[in-house]
Amino acid sequence: MKTDLIIIGSGPGGYRAAEYAAKNGLQVVIAEDKKVGGTCLNEGCIPTKTLCHEAEVLEVLKTHWAEAAVDFSHLNSRLEEVTGQLRTGVEQLLTMQGITLVHGHASFKDAHTIVIGEEEYEADHIIIATGSHAKMPPIKELDATMVSTSTEMLHLDHLPKRLVIVGAGVIGMEFASIFNTFGSEVTVIEFLKECLPSMDSDIAKRLRKSLEKRGVNFMMQSAVEAITATGVTYARKGKQETIEADTVLIATGREPNLQGLNLEAADILADRKGITVNDNMQTNVQGIYAIGDVNGRMMLAHAATMQGFRAVNHILGKEDHIRLDIMPAAVFTHPEAASVGMTEDQAKEQGLDFVCKKGFYRSNGKALAMDETEGIIKLLTDSQGHIIGCHVLGAHAADLVQEIAALMNLDTTIGQLREMVHIHPTLGEILQNIAEQF
Ligand code: FAD
Repeated sequence: MKTDLIIIGSGPGGYRAAEYAAKNGLQVVIAEDKKVGGTCLNEGCIPTKTLCHEAEVLEVLKTHWAEAAVDFSHLNSRLEEVTGQLRTGVEQLLTMQGITLVHGHASFKDAHTIVIGEEEYEADHIIIATGSHAKMPPIKELDATMVSTSTEMLHLDHLPKRLVIVGAGVIGMEFASIFNTFGSEVTVIEFLKECLPSMDSDIAKRLRKSLEKRGVNFMMQSAVEAITATGVTYARKGKQETIEADTVLIATGREPNLQGLNLEAADILADRKGITVNDNMQTNVQGIYAIGDVNGRMMLAHAATMQGFRAVNHILGKEDHIRLDIMPAAVFTHPEAASVGMTEDQAKEQGLDFVCKKGFYRSNGKALAMDETEGIIKLLTDSQGHIIGCHVLGAHAADLVQEIAALMNLDTTIGQLREMVHIHPTLGEILQNIAEQF
């Protein structure tokens, strides 16, 4: 079968690109070898945020009203309900746009031909959007029955009494927060000095301290040496220590899904991080693009989607103004953390002439009313007063950062933010108060 565009993978990169291409008149075939919606919908963003919400509700119940406990049968049916509803929505969306969804594993026959099952599909343009999977660290002694990835953690039928998490990145921190609230004894073991290395170090440290206060143990600068049937052995400050565990979550990063794609048949270049692309998401082969986790640029669902729009625009010969350099990101812990743009550490390292001012939740009326007084916002401007970064720890951090990301897209100055009316009472007023300090 000949078509205009073949997309491999129906995650937030693939299915949104398919919809956009179809709306712009292209005939699209999309291949999916698992469930429609990809990691994001089935094993990533959506199910974890469902758990975050359940943990939040439990915390409110425990704090204000009564003794409450997590119910895994309720949790699992809630996860199935949420993901099932969204999957149906994605399938309907593809059908409505006249997109051909083919279930099966896709691989390259040559630069214009993709084999899915027994069938061959040909197109001048191909987008690879195959996502990523959990990376296993090279630990010599590893009892597979003890180890889970984030995917398995979404299908538990009981609460692990002692949960050890290897890795203090976004996934490790979110699960630490959720399972600590559910009632597990949580220990996070991390090789680096601080959690969340891509975040502003001030915010990362405050988040770690906050989770510590809630009962999460952190073993920083520690290297895991063995995972056995009873626990985890790690080296810390030259000493070997062992901690007992019932379940061990490995959250040491993700790697691109390249296996079985037969990239060699089309001479597509890739390295350890993923498929090599330029800013239009073009690979080294004319007509072939790679978007989302598989190119290793930015492992975020919204990055995958926007990269997909960029790739389709390039295919259509359309210029766009998508600012892929302004990429807000959030960690849905309690308290939440989020950031966009340059961190204070980066601004210092680059020797920039910048100003950084802070505001705190504790003096904000809405935060007090919500009983969410733990929080800080940092705003950074360059020498001309343009906003270049925002870093937040506290309730609704992601929504607050989103406002600043929008302003950064418009090259807004701090003076303009100062003059923008903010609803009272809202957390957004903290942003305006910070602007008044400049
Ligand atoms: P994916 O969503 O991984 O989709 C790729 C699809 O391609 C999959 O369905 C796969 O089965 C299919 N596929 C692979 N190979 C083939 C093949 N050869 N043939 C056919 N089909 C194939 N990001 C956020 O922005 N916010 C969050 O809160 C967030 N939380 C996360 C929580 C967890 C636990 C995890 C694991 C990830 C989270 N992420 C989050 C990251 C986010 O899920 C990914 O960045 C996003 O899903 C990437 O989208 P994608 O389209 O590139 O790939």
